[in-house]
Amino acid sequence: MAEFIVLGAGMVGISSALALQEAGHTVTVVDRTQPGLETSFGNAGIIQTEAVEPYALPQDLSTLWRYAIGHTNDVLWELAPTLRMAPALWRYFLNSATDKHRKISTTYAKLAALATADHAPLIDASNSDTLIIRNGLAMLYRDEVSFDKEKARAERLEREFGVRSRIVDGQAYQLEESALKQAPVGAVHWLDSWSCKDPGGLTQAYATLFEQRGGRLLKGDANSLTQTTTGWVVKTEQGIVNAEQVVIALGPWSPELLKRFGYNIPMVYKRGYHGHYQETTPLNRPFLDVANGVLAAPMSRGIRVTTGAALVDLNATAEPKQLQRGVSALKTLLELGERIQEDQWFGTRPCMPDMLPVVGKAPKHERMWFHFGHGHQGFTQGPTTAKILVANIAGEKEGQWAPLEPSARF
Ligand SMILES: Cc1cc2nc3c(=O)[nH]c(=O)nc-3n(C[C@H](O)[C@H](O)[C@H](O)COP(=O)(O)OP(=O)(O)OC[C@H]3O[C@@H](n4cnc5c(N)ncnc54)[C@H](O)[C@@H]3O)c2cc1C
Repeated sequence: MAEFIVLGAGMVGISSALALQEAGHTVTVVDRTQPGLETSFGNAGIIQTEAVEPYALPQDLSTLWRYAIGHTNDVLWELAPTLRMAPALWRYFLNSATDKHRKISTTYAKLAALATADHAPLIDASNSDTLIIRNGLAMLYRDEVSFDKEKARAERLEREFGVRSRIVDGQAYQLEESALKQAPVGAVHWLDSWSCKDPGGLTQAYATLFEQRGGRLLKGDANSLTQTTTGWVVKTEQGIVNAEQVVIALGPWSPELLKRFGYNIPMVYKRGYHGHYQETTPLNRPFLDVANGVLAAPMSRGIRVTTGAALVDLNATAEPKQLQRGVSALKTLLELGERIQEDQWFGTRPCMPDMLPVVGKAPKHERMWFHFGHGHQGFTQGPTTAKILVANIAGEKEGQWAPLEPSARF
């Protein structure tokens, strides 16, 4: 058994640490803040078994044009950062072509299928059951054309991947969900997805479990990582930590660190915002207002509204117009109370151009492992890809998911 440093204490890093620990390794997690305070904190909290197909870039000119002229709220972009991301975006666009996307989805669907089963023992062991709602996710449609399209997609996903859903007429859905002020045209209710009332809290509960099982959680800057003849060293507030092996699980910050080690990792940074609103009428389950690209989820702090993607630099200052627009539109559908006062949160989905998380051995370094790039679904996939990583480290056959392997990609 070996000693590991895991850099990053988001859902992906903490899941890596727990899986390594379970395999008998000694693990120290290093993060510059507390666990679960970044992307894993502010997301929509859905454990998405319905996410069997990753988000593709649109291929049709009319949608691209609507994005280009800002006629949609689900994607916003700024010229300079979009140009900086252009090489990664171009590869993303090419991988979104129907045939390629279909092939990528065969891997993605396997990850989605394992998600709730891989979270379940951790939820149980960390006593987090009260944070979990197990009654699905709804997508609400405001026009017939998009509802019909999604109905056909739901039927196809059930046929091809066994994803269960329920198609509900808008008025019938409003009767089920009394927080809705107005009936949508229709709803697709994905039955098997779970949601979490406090994603940061769940990540922290998993981190506490890791410590209870003997793991070490230290504060330090991952950028102090250096290679030695026997392994790796990182500086922490509690002193220098040495280990034979290192896992890079820094989410959207992974490429920045890896540049120093000679890796040019293409990543598309898709920022999202959230705001909390008082829950005037209880909401049974999260839903996406598809036309406006905002998701409303019942959370411990109130109704959390999260936005789609803004293509901006990782460190750009907050500009929450997507949230403001989305909330005004959402208010025509949903009872929302006052906004709860708090600092404006934003986070960045670390998206790879081939839409798959990166899991496996660093191509140019011994004893360095990559585990990042989970894009829109890292909260869902963290425990599953952690198990794949650990099987991969052990040289087991089930760890060899070729499409996820860094060596084939960088
Ligand atoms: C608005 C929004 C909604 C989303 N909704 C969902 C959803 O419903 N379901 C879902 O599955 N996914 C969702 N996602 C995606 C999901 O949140 C991410 O894929 C996931 O959180 C990534 O986890 P991570 O551990 O890789 O990254 P993070 O949670 O960001 O963790 C990275 C860690 O690295 C640390 N770090 C960074 N740099 C350093 C450094 N130099 N030194 C030390 N530590 C450092 C950070 O402090 C952080 O703790 C959403 C994302 C957004 C933005």
